[in-house]
Amino acid sequence: MDKLIALGTGYAVAVNCYTTCFALNCDDDYFLLDTGGGNGILKRLAQAEIDPARLHHVFISHRHTDHVLGALWLMRLIGHQLDCGQYDGQLTFYAHAAVCQGLEAMGRFVLPEKHLAYFHQRIVFMPIEDGQQHTILKRKVQFFDTAAQKTQQFGLKITLDNDKTLVYLGDEPFNERNYALVHNADYLLHEAFCRHDEAEKYRAARKAHSTVKEACDNARLLNAKALILFHTEDHDLTHRKKNYTDEAHRFFDGQVFVPDDLDCIWL
Ligand SMILES: [Zn+2]
Repeated sequence: MDKLIALGTGYAVAVNCYTTCFALNCDDDYFLLDTGGGNGILKRLAQAEIDPARLHHVFISHRHTDHVLGALWLMRLIGHQLDCGQYDGQLTFYAHAAVCQGLEAMGRFVLPEKHLAYFHQRIVFMPIEDGQQHTILKRKVQFFDTAAQKTQQFGLKITLDNDKTLVYLGDEPFNERNYALVHNADYLLHEAFCRHDEAEKYRAARKAHSTVKEACDNARLLNAKALILFHTEDHDLTHRKKNYTDEAHRFFDGQVFVPDDLDCIWL
């Protein structure tokens, strides 16, 4: 059974948890959904006991710090493993063309020369386009442009080994242009910045983010069976799971997950 491991669940400037990063475990390999914003990814990978040698696929939704900068540390980590002969195969980043260009440029700026020699050979930047399908870890994956407000952003739909579907919408609310593709998902990963009664305090709408209620409204509209909320403010992690779950149950009848970092969801 495939498993989703939450490595980072916080919003862009979270300090009490890591930023957006999920690891999808398929058989004995991993597919990362975003990389969070820094070298905290190394700690989370270690805590989750994810061997980097079994990490070969990485999706980057968009170019913002809290999603993309962990990729540099992955290149650094796996570049070192390649040097040591401890990494087989290639590390592939899937992202739209501008993000691929940015990843490569940032890598060339900060990484040692010996690691840059792996670019395009063992560390590969794969530009994706709207609607494009790939097979990743033997799972069917379809990428789509989310029509985001802030910067071009992609999401994906993956068909799991049990034929259930998981949809990742990136970190902006669902846009109706993708309704046909993403409705009826078994698992919908939807951002939720804060509880609805704190929308003004956190200025969720001005940041093009949803409240828990709004994420639930979208999940209902899309007939999702289960909703996974992430990309939240991090001011009360002790009670986040309960507070967000309680609000979600008021507006959505399906299963609700509000993972803490390192929580696992069996899909
Ligand atoms: Zn974000």
